[in-house]
Order: sequence, then structure tokens, then C-alpha cells
Amino acid sequence: MQTIASPAHILQTIFGYDSFRHNQKEIIDQILDGKDSLVLMPTGGGKSLCYQVPALCLPGVTVVVSPLIALMKDQVDALLLSGVKAAFLNSTQSNAEQAILSEQLKNNELKLIYVAPERLVGQDKQFLHFLQSISVSLFAIDEAHCISQWGHDFRPEYRVLGELKDAFPDTPIVALTATADAVTKKDILLQLHLNNPQVFENSFNRPNIFYTVKPKRGYYNELIGYLDEHKNDSGIIYCLSRAATEKLAADLVEDGFQAAAYHAGLEKNLRDERQDQFLKDEIKIMVATIAFGMGINKSNVRYVIHVDLPKNIEGYYQETGRAGRDGLNSDALLFYGGGDVIKLKTFAQVEGNEEQTKILLKKLDLMVQFCETKRCRRKYLLNYFGEPAVDNCGSCDICMGHRSLKEATLISQKFLSAVVRMNEKFGANYIIDVLRGSNSEKIRDEHKQLTVYGIGKELSKDEWHHYAKELLYEEYLQQSNSEYPVLQLTEKAKAVLFKAEKVFLNSPEKQVIVKEPIIFQKHAYEKELFESLKKLRNKIAQEENIPAYIILSDSSLLDLATYLPIKHSDLANISGFGTYKVERYGAAFLEMVQDFCIEHQLATRMDLKHPQRKKPNRVAKERETETKKLSYDQYKKGYSIDAIAEERGLSTTTIENHLSYYIVKGMLSLDEFVKQANQELIKKAAEKFGRLSLRNLKDNLPDSISYGAIRMVLNSMTEEEK
Ligand code: ADP
Ligand code: ZN
Repeated sequence: MQTIASPAHILQTIFGYDSFRHNQKEIIDQILDGKDSLVLMPTGGGKSLCYQVPALCLPGVTVVVSPLIALMKDQVDALLLSGVKAAFLNSTQSNAEQAILSEQLKNNELKLIYVAPERLVGQDKQFLHFLQSISVSLFAIDEAHCISQWGHDFRPEYRVLGELKDAFPDTPIVALTATADAVTKKDILLQLHLNNPQVFENSFNRPNIFYTVKPKRGYYNELIGYLDEHKNDSGIIYCLSRAATEKLAADLVEDGFQAAAYHAGLEKNLRDERQDQFLKDEIKIMVATIAFGMGINKSNVRYVIHVDLPKNIEGYYQETGRAGRDGLNSDALLFYGGGDVIKLKTFAQVEGNEEQTKILLKKLDLMVQFCETKRCRRKYLLNYFGEPAVDNCGSCDICMGHRSLKEATLISQKFLSAVVRMNEKFGANYIIDVLRGSNSEKIRDEHKQLTVYGIGKELSKDEWHHYAKELLYEEYLQQSNSEYPVLQLTEKAKAVLFKAEKVFLNSPEKQVIVKEPIIFQKHAYEKELFESLKKLRNKIAQEENIPAYIILSDSSLLDLATYLPIKHSDLANISGFGTYKVERYGAAFLEMVQDFCIEHQLATRMDLKHPQRKKPNRVAKERETETKKLSYDQYKKGYSIDAIAEERGLSTTTIENHLSYYIVKGMLSLDEFVKQANQELIKKAAEKFGRLSLRNLKDNLPDSISYGAIRMVLNSMTEEEK
């Protein structure tokens, strides 16, 4: 299609970012090619840019369909602040306002217009016909899963969107969502009548969210302790019932926190007011039912806490996903207690619908397993969504705590043999009774004759149940899908029984108290300056009556507090400072940084942030190969180096070497892998000690710098640098 600007140029000048994330670039290229696409990206992944950038590259207007008025306003405000002509159309506007918008659209004065689906196709398709008379370049369907009955948030009004393609056969459509399973995905493509669409999927991993589960008993003190340490942050606390939100909010206020309750039973005005206060950081803590959150685009939510158990993993993932959209470290904390399970089980009973009840109970059960697991929570979540993951993410309570894998070969052999002896036809309860030599009449006589009868008396029932779960988890056993699930051996188990392979399992002792999560800070930054910059941003936000995070995100402020720009021209290299924002807010923030530097006698660190080198490496005669390409593609989808290595059965070194090739080609930025300061250190060390012995370099660098980092930096050094 005809374009009026390049995506890279728009990204830099309007949005102030220097590189595309995930597969944003590929998605944008597909759109600019005039083709249809479906984009699956986790919350905070950067879906908006996938259509906002093309909107500015294309000559006509981009129509964005979005289900929520609040969200539209937020997005439009943010665009206006970046100097982009955008507007929204909804039923709250007067005729006069709508007439002005039509006029602007006719004159091609708007780059983006946000509308609700019913507004787009309803009212005898008036608006649709109107759009046919002007130049529409692109349709973007946000929250596209709402069109499918299979999704978890079906909205009948989305169904009409099926008519779009027929009315505009030549205009590309991009559908976007953060949640869709395989069925929903297919359904979206079908319902929207997309034409030969490409589906772009990304990893659902949210690396900056730190998952923790704590016991619910006496949680209030623990909660207060946490909130005390996060007084300056904003967060959401989810409760199951309306009454619980009111009570907890009142308790927190009494204890001196800026908290308020939010639930669907409140007057609409009050709800809107509180939401607005939350967005503007006037309320720090929103204590809410799940009615709150959908359509909250606030990027600096630092924590999401569940004081009651969510009903299923989908809900939990979505709710916790509201933390850390800006990419900075954030917490997901859940207080788990058995009482909730009983309560939710009764809620899951759908009268007259056994099928549905069963599904809900199963989902609840998987949620409970998440809480009770002794293994990496991130892996559990990713696997739940069908995605591979490394065993140890290093950033959840389990991975940070002490895990105690112990050899359990003999115990495992006993259990597995019992399964075999009973012809893989019994469930865990029965097998355990046999192992413990139960005299119960339930135990068949023939089983009392087996050699395995009574060989497990040394362990209690609970302990055996623990090991049964462990063996299932480690996939020595599998459970049949039949009405009465029975335990069966896997290939892995045969190696234990017949080749005496060793087994390591978690022992059934009480879980060790987990350590407080250590928050990894990517950069060394000036904390005091960061806080002052936040205050400045809040002041401006109040004056202009818009949420602070729309003016500049926390990560932009962090960039300022890290690299200390002191020249006006430096600002263009600070993340999130597009041309328009530099002009509008640059001076105020710059002045604050300058003053801080003078007062504390600090020099700028902008040299650590020099733009990526684009010089081709002349000696890099290496060719692209299939295997390199595969690593690259997976990396772009958002998988970590470890995950790719594990999935492909290759070493991380190999994957790093693959990716280095693309760094040299300029398709990946070295900054993604090694922070700037470390790059400098490594280069300096290479100059001083030579490049030949990695070991020597490693010994002469801080411990935190890995072999991988050293290798990547060396690989991507240009000829001149060597
Ligand atoms: P989503 O809609 O997928 O939840 P958003 O579009 O709101 O996510 O993006 C989340 C945040 O990431 C926003 O603050 C956005 O400006 C930022 N962002 C998106 N793409 C990039 C990029 N390429 N570089 C830096 N920041 C980005
Ligand atoms: Zn983990």
C-alpha cells in the first residue's frame, strides 16, 4: 500500500522508542502490505503500536474498534499528547460534537478514530456508509476475543463486525487480543471473515512480573507490611465479594493508606470518580472485585494482590497481567487458603448443567494446583497456556526459595511397581491402600497376595499422596481421562523400573518459608531523582488534568534518572520522548536533571546509551542458516534464550551464537541482552586482556557478567573495535 512515512521513523519521532519489540515490526509490515492479521500478545506487550504506527504511515484514517469508552478516552489522550490527531466517537457526545468529527473525517484531518462496535455497524449502518465515502486505510479490532462465544468475555455487539470485510474488501483488518485459546483463535478469524490472515503469536511470559503465593491465615498483617514498603506505588487488591472490598478498603484507610473500594454495585458516578482518581494516582490502592480492571490501561500498576482465590488460571493471569505494563518490575501476590476452595466449589455448581459444573470445577482444581505447586509458578502458567518454559525462572517465590529435591528412587519404584502389578487399572487412593497393607474389605483378595501389598507401611497416606502427585508432575505417571481416572506408567517410568534410573523428587516436609523476593533492578539509577521526577510529572498531570502515566511512563522517568541527559538534544534518545513530548515537556524535566547533576556533582551517562551501531561487520562472512533463523524467530516471539535452548535441545551457548549473528546484522540490539554499562566493561577488558581467553576475561570482570554476555559482546564487536 501507499505509505507516507516509514515505521522506524514514526516509532522514533512520534513515540520516542528506538526499536520495535517482539514481532511488532513483522506485524506492521504485514499491515502495510495490505494484508489481514491476528495478533496475540500479552498485556503490556505493545499491541497498540501495532496499529498506531501503521495508522501514521498510511494516508487515510485508521478506525479502531474498542469495547470500552474509558479505554478509548485514555488512548486518545495519550495519542494527542504525542501530537497525533485522534478522536473517539461514542453515544455520550452531542450532535454538534459528532458533526465536527464527521467534518474532520471528511477532510482527512484525523489519523485515528476510536469507535464502539455498535456505533460502527449499528443504526442502519449509517456510520459504515459514511466511512465508505471517505478514505479508510485500516481497521483495528482491539480485544478481538470478545467476538467469540468460546472466549471468556463474549460480547454479542462484536458479532456485527463480521460485516466489515464485506463492506471493505480491500482494507486490511488487524485483530488484537491478549487472551485466546486455539478454538477462540480460529473463531476470531472465521467471524471476522479475514482474508488469508497471518497469525502472530508471542510468548505469554511476563518476565517483569514476580509471582508469589502466601498462606492466607492471618494475612492482614503481611498485607500491611507489604503495602508499607510500597507506599509510593499504586496497585490493585482483588477480593471475591463486594462486601469484602468495602471492608478491606475501610480497614486500610483506617491504617493510613490511600485506598478505596470498587465494585459493580456502586453508583456509576462513584465508580467513574474512583477509577479516575486511581488513574491519576490520587487513590493508590484500589480494593476491587474483578469488575475493575478491564480497560484499565494504567501502565504503572506496581502490584496486583489477590486476597481471595481466583476461580481459574485465565482470570488470575489476566488480573495479575494488569501489573507492570511499562515493563518495570512488579509483583503478583496471592494469599491462598483452603477455605476459599470450599467456597468456590459451591459457586461452581451450575444448576441443571452438569457438564458446565465439571468444567468449572476442573478449572478451579488447576488454580488450586498452581497455589500448591512446589515448582516454578511461571512454568506452571506458561504450560497451562500450552507454552514451553524452563524449569526454573529465577523470579518467582519457588525459584527464589530453597527447593529440596531429594533422591526418592526406592519410594518411586515401590509406587510404580504397584501400578504395574495392578495392571494400570486403579487410582491413587486404592494403590496407596495396597501399598500400606490396608485390611479394608475394599481391597480385593488377589491384591492382598501381591508382593507390593504392605511394602509401603513406612509412609503415611498423606506422604504417599504427596509422592503420587510428584510422580505425576514429573511425568513418571499419567492419569487416564476416563470417568474414574486411573494411574498409568509413562516411558520415563519404565526406565526407573527396568534400568534402575534414579528419581529426584520434592520431599513431603512442610514447604520452607520462602525468602522475600529480590527485585532485580536492570539499571543503576538515581533513586532520589526518580522520585522528584515523579513528583514533577504529577504536578504537570494535575495542571493538565490527565493521568500522570500518559504524560511519561515510569520507564521513561527511569531512563532519565539512569542516563542523566543534560543537553536538550539528549532527550530524543530517552525512551518515550517523541518530538512532540520533547517540545512540550522536555525543558521542565531536563532542568530537574541538570539541577540534580550539579547539586550531586554527577556527569551525564548518555554515552552509555549511544545509538545502536549500524556499521556492518566486514569480517562477518557467516551465512544465515535454518537453525539460526529458527532461534531468531523464537526469540522474536518472546521466548528466552534458556527456553529456546531447552525446547530445541541445544545449549544456551549455541543459541547465543545464533543470536549474535543477528546482532551483527543489526536485526537485534545487543542492548537487549547485555546492559550498556556491562558492554563497556567487557570491551574495556577485551582491550586490556585480549580476546583470546574467555576465562581470563571472565575472571577480570564482575561476577554478575556471564560468559554468555562476554561472548555476545565479543561476537558483535566491529572490526575497528577489535
Ligand atoms: P498492550 O495493549 O499490549 O497491553 P500497550 O500497547 O499498552 O500494551 O503497550 C505497553 C507499554 O509498552 C506502553 O507504555 C507502550 O508505550 C510501551 N511500548 C510499546 N512498544 C514499545 C517499544 N517498541 N519500545 C518501547 N516501549 C514500547
Ligand atoms: Zn519460577
